[in-house]
Amino acid sequence: MLTRLCSPLLLYSQVVVNPVGGTGIALKIWKRDTEPLLIAGNVEYTLLTTERVNHAKEYVTTEDLSSFCTIVIIGGDGLIFEVVSGIMARDDHAQVFKNLPLAPIPGGSGNGLAKSILHECGEACTTKVATFVAITGAPAYLDISRVTTTSESHFSFLALSWGMIADVDINSESLRWMGEARFTVSGVSRIITRKLYRGRLSMLLADTVSGDTVTGENSSEVSDTVTEQKQGTALAKLPPLCESLDTCVAENPDSWLVLEDDFIMVWVVQTSHASTTMYTGPGVTLNDGIFTLTLVRGKCNRSTLLKILVDMETGTHFQIPEMEVYRAKAFRLEPLTEDGLYSLDGEVIEYGPVQCEMHSTTSLQILKTDNNQALLSPK
Ligand code: ADP
Ligand code: MG
Repeated sequence: MLTRLCSPLLLYSQVVVNPVGGTGIALKIWKRDTEPLLIAGNVEYTLLTTERVNHAKEYVTTEDLSSFCTIVIIGGDGLIFEVVSGIMARDDHAQVFKNLPLAPIPGGSGNGLAKSILHECGEACTTKVATFVAITGAPAYLDISRVTTTSESHFSFLALSWGMIADVDINSESLRWMGEARFTVSGVSRIITRKLYRGRLSMLLADTVSGDTVTGENSSEVSDTVTEQKQGTALAKLPPLCESLDTCVAENPDSWLVLEDDFIMVWVVQTSHASTTMYTGPGVTLNDGIFTLTLVRGKCNRSTLLKILVDMETGTHFQIPEMEVYRAKAFRLEPLTEDGLYSLDGEVIEYGPVQCEMHSTTSLQILKTDNNQALLSPK
């Protein structure tokens, strides 16, 4: 059981609000839902309203965060990505993550982390419920992965996509005013185009998977020792990106799956939801140390693609044979199509070979409530 450093009567939160996230309602959410509940809950706060891209990142990299108990983040996954990257840039990042759980309030167009946390709490994904969890929740671990491209290194908590999902995510920026509907509208236009991407995907398969349930300890309230053991034994380390994986695959052929094909999409998610309407499927938890890779290959026709997109909301897309699902501890993707883009937690990163492995020394923390005690929402 993890303990919060501060007394429950003297909570002090850093609040970060992105006024332009999603449909631009994050400041309204702050005033209408979050601020009144923090005040009612006896929580003091310092508010940062971001004024530009990377403002939140620079702030958390340089500020003294030692007096805070939480970082409440009102915006989308892109804002959380900035906060995580900013903290990772600090020398004391492990200490900061240990003492400072993140509490996302859904205020962007991509709210995958907020949805995944509330899903695990058994709660509806609303701004009020998310604020209650931010005030009353207990710390729990969240996987963080290291993502390496030819010249960059990132830390990710949510999802990497290539092909259709990345194109939908990034190229729908001009439809931001629509909120999450932008993904559906852009998705339909991408289905019509049905662009193929050739690539090689090498996956170090997770051996802890049985049926569609990932076995292992529950994600909530695990002890430091359990996490250290999990990180010491179960997490996989890949060779540097510039080195071939041939030797690893030859030495351990049963653990590796290497696919070279035309893909419509490769979508790798660490959490149960990549957005409020994109369900990764049952058995995926916040700190299982596992990537869920979902692939659609070039042979899939347009009507099946449309069905996959529609069924994503409920997770029934996994019943469609063209939707392949793998659980992996680590993977490398080598695009053979020259032009393309990646979306990592909703942000564009360098295109080319990329590999992802769970971070071996750092776990993020979020706040969760007991999923047997609903706060505001009916079960
Ligand atoms: P969404 O889910 O709609 O993408 P996010 O909150 O994730 O919303 O934010 C999207 C982007 O907005 C982030 O990449 C962040 O860097 C950027 N951003 C934050 N504050 C501002 C600002 N004041 N002006 C412009 N962009 C900003
Ligand atoms: Mg996971």
